[in-house]
Amino acid sequence: MVWSLYCETLVRRPDATVVGAGPNGLAAALTLARAGLSVDVYEGSGTPGGGCRTQELTLPGFHHDVCSAVHPLLVASPFFQGLDLSALGVSLLTPTVSFAHPLDGGRAAAVLRSVEDTAAGLGVDGRTYRRMFSWLAEDAEKILPTFLAPLRSIPRNPIVTARFGLTGLLSAKTVASRFSSDESRALVAGAAAHSMLPMTAPLSGAMARLFIMLAHSVGWPIVRGGSARIVDALCSQIESLGGRILTGTWVKSLGDLPPTTATVLDVTPRQLIAMAGDHMPGPYRRSLERFRYGPGICKVDWALSGPVPWSAPQCRDALTVHVCGDFADVARSESDVNAGRHTDKPYCLVTQPCVMDQTRAPEGKHVLWGYCHVPNGSSVDMRERMEAQIERFAPGFRDLILAHATVTAVQAEEHNPSYVGGDINAGAASLRQTVFRPTARWNPYRTGLKGVYLCSGSTPPGGGVHGMCGEGAAKTALHDLRRSSTL
Ligand SMILES: Cc1cc2nc3c(=O)[nH]c(=O)nc-3n(C[C@H](O)[C@H](O)[C@H](O)COP(=O)(O)OP(=O)(O)OC[C@H]3O[C@@H](n4cnc5c(N)ncnc54)[C@H](O)[C@@H]3O)c2cc1C
Repeated sequence: MVWSLYCETLVRRPDATVVGAGPNGLAAALTLARAGLSVDVYEGSGTPGGGCRTQELTLPGFHHDVCSAVHPLLVASPFFQGLDLSALGVSLLTPTVSFAHPLDGGRAAAVLRSVEDTAAGLGVDGRTYRRMFSWLAEDAEKILPTFLAPLRSIPRNPIVTARFGLTGLLSAKTVASRFSSDESRALVAGAAAHSMLPMTAPLSGAMARLFIMLAHSVGWPIVRGGSARIVDALCSQIESLGGRILTGTWVKSLGDLPPTTATVLDVTPRQLIAMAGDHMPGPYRRSLERFRYGPGICKVDWALSGPVPWSAPQCRDALTVHVCGDFADVARSESDVNAGRHTDKPYCLVTQPCVMDQTRAPEGKHVLWGYCHVPNGSSVDMRERMEAQIERFAPGFRDLILAHATVTAVQAEEHNPSYVGGDINAGAASLRQTVFRPTARWNPYRTGLKGVYLCSGSTPPGGGVHGMCGEGAAKTALHDLRRSSTL
């Protein structure tokens, strides 16, 4: 056992330990603490939060979201719905323009909160858009819980969910082919590319429809002051129930941990294999070894002297902008990345929080957040290519740059070992790993080891700040404890 952990266990022996204070680790800790267990959370980094932190990455007074920035999944999450976030200091700012997508020639398309307003901006495609998304927006409350639970669960509203699922395997290319304008097709591509899948891959169309459904139902909000506020809220709740969050403690082996009734790990399969060593049963280890990671990201934060001068007005009011070009441009970018190539004109996910949140930068100044996809394990700095893409749709952008900070895919993993090769979703979104994540088991949170559970984005429902993996793992642990009469 490492010395710092040994000292902690002399102070108290907790009922449960959680390794990793990302949103899922903290959701697990809170679920266990609410059930009356004493919980210690061990976090390797100097601050809790994992992919949900805010720091002055460029210049003093410029507050950048280190990882996650936009939170539709948090609003849709049953776990977070069980917390009074506003009473805990989390103020969500939801834009009217959920996301915009610029095209050459000063054109752009945008998805607004209302289906009707969005359709009105799409001209000849308005009718198709209405037909595709009106019912999804209306039934979102019935569909979303199924996506935020393991896919093996029985849907609460099977008919509505089946209607969505019937077309779930379609590719983004097929979904986009229902539209005739560049603008509408680009919107589909921009939303689908969040999945990091090629535009021809099964499920990529479902991802587009899911993200557009979220835009019309819960919106695509940011947090006033930054995503770290979410983690502050979780930590304060855990601590108010007697839990402890011990930062600066990397756990290398399960043998480092004090013996407890439940150990919940916010790590991915590769780390679990290393931490368990010879204790892991062979069949489970072999199935974890088959787990595949997806492409990585290169992240850039900029401090700007003013707002991004987008040519298209729709982009100026949006918090999120998908920067790449038309459907073919996005398809080329994502197919390059999936083939292991660094693309010249990357699809860039860009967020401009100061459009709604002036607390992020000194008066009149702006922060800009962006990342693009790269092959897994890449050490290439994509900043100049990303800046060229933004400049293409916002001439004069480069003149506003005061400072920047870049994290390549390999550096992302150095900061957080859960981003294997820079994969921010803790595993590829392939068809197999969407249904069976991390392996084909009835309960995906149990590991082959008694009392040890996995709660990272490598378990259902996957990546994103929703806490549902953490809650699912903790509920499984509580179920097992009750069954063994330990609780
Ligand atoms: C650039 C970027 C942008 C993103 N944008 C969004 C977004 O806008 N919206 C959204 O919903 N999601 C977004 N995500 C994804 C989101 O951040 C993650 O899916 C989410 O944070 C996963 O939560 P987690 O708790 O499973 O893991 P993580 O947040 O990765 O946390 C894992 C924690 O465990 C710690 N840890 C790992 N191994 C050990 C160990 N051995 N010992 C001790 N501690 C350990 C790590 O230090 C880390 O703090 C983004 C991610 C990145 C990187």
